[in-house]
Amino acid sequence: CGIVGYVGPQSALEVVMAGLKRLEYRGYDSAGVAVLADGGLAAAKRAGKLVNLEKELTERPLPTGSNGIGHTRWATHGAPTDDNAHPHLDNAGRVAVVHNGIIENFAALRAELTERGHELASETDTEVVSHLLAEEYSSCADLAEAMRLVCRRLEGAFTLVAVHADEPDVVVGARRNSPLVVGVGEGEAFLASDVAAFIAHTRDAIELGQDQVVELRRDGVTVTGFDGRPADVRSYHVDWDASA
Ligand code: GLU
Repeated sequence: CGIVGYVGPQSALEVVMAGLKRLEYRGYDSAGVAVLADGGLAAAKRAGKLVNLEKELTERPLPTGSNGIGHTRWATHGAPTDDNAHPHLDNAGRVAVVHNGIIENFAALRAELTERGHELASETDTEVVSHLLAEEYSSCADLAEAMRLVCRRLEGAFTLVAVHADEPDVVVGARRNSPLVVGVGEGEAFLASDVAAFIAHTRDAIELGQDQVVELRRDGVTVTGFDGRPADVRSYHVDWDASA
């Protein structure tokens, strides 16, 4: 239901948790985060309110990283449980994905993945994406390209945001029939389903167009279509007062 991503010099976990709080008004049943740190990926997720996730993070703190993603879930496929909460990881625990929307052809993709030996740990439509990304990444070693390849296979409405432990400086987002906004700061960049999540940090925004993928790095963002062609970028300045 709500998505936040961050890459930059600040603690990604703090930026992402603060962003998720700004999106609480949308309503949700579970929440989770993933951060890239020390060459690996660490994630935490809990059913219920953000306070449940905060409690989990106090009891089992994640390492501090400068790249992270977060999610508040409104369940459509699979009950609101800890296992079904996002992020969803691949079997090697190197890719983490958060998703808003519905992937309509997930059952066929799930069957295909199971056939190839993947073990899926949740009942969600989302989890197929982390496994497909891991597969594509293993041949192209480029997360944005892996995302484009996977998105071309998906049907439905989705905002997807992913990180890979092998690309600790990158956050990748994609959208079709579901919103995703990019925030461009000084030496840092943000992704969210709503500008409210990052307005405290930057008001320079880019609205991602239909069927586009964005690659976020500290020094800038690159937007392409699902076909890999460079895309026109719609930049704007958020001038409304979001502090109210
Ligand atoms: N369809 C996904 C799920 O049920 C995402 C729901 C959402 O938009 O939060 O996990």
